[in-house]
Amino acid sequence: MRRFTKGKLLVATHNAGKLEEMRALFSPHGVEVVGAAEMSLDEPAETESSFLGNARIKARAAMKATGLPVLADDSGITVDGLDGAPGVYTADWAETENGRDFMQAMTRTWTELDARGVPEPRTAQFRATLLMLWPDGHEEIFEGVAPGRLVWPPRGQLGHGYDPMFVPEGGDRTYAELTAEEKNAISHRAQAFGKLKAILG
Ligand code: IMP
Repeated sequence: MRRFTKGKLLVATHNAGKLEEMRALFSPHGVEVVGAAEMSLDEPAETESSFLGNARIKARAAMKATGLPVLADDSGITVDGLDGAPGVYTADWAETENGRDFMQAMTRTWTELDARGVPEPRTAQFRATLLMLWPDGHEEIFEGVAPGRLVWPPRGQLGHGYDPMFVPEGGDRTYAELTAEEKNAISHRAQAFGKLKAILG
């Protein structure tokens, strides 16, 4: 596995929260993290049908624009009773004329499960893929999966996205009823992060 121990790393996200997480992870190792917004990068269309494919689109576009090594990520939720949907379309299911509405996305998810008559437990997985891409084309891939089940109605005020309808395996509270610390101990993103740490010196 190739290591990344110093120099500049471009994190191909416009999400300030994700950027701060990466900065905290890398800065003790002498890595200077810069974000896509600081470099005025566009957000490319995510046209692939896998998390890895979309992470690769983001990483390649950012590297082409800057020549820097890049870390890109993609994530979403896969529902077994919906043959893996919404998957890479997780954010799209929330799209409205006035921005994203995750209540709409969660309602659609539950309604489609009802329409198919899927019995409970309605199992699902949050998934995160991180891709490190070096300017010579070398890649390292880190994946995290958090298994669980969906519940209705949604519960909890914390978190974001589909958190209020997702109960992680072995628990009884939704992701939106867990503190950030509790979620970070088990989440898909935390697991991918944990693996990414292996490339630091
Ligand atoms: P992206 O990885 O930024 O493209 O986001 C994919 C979508 O997955 C987002 O719109 C989120 O709502 C959803 N998602 C990813 N991780 C989580 C999570 O931890 N909780 C809830 N929703 C999530």
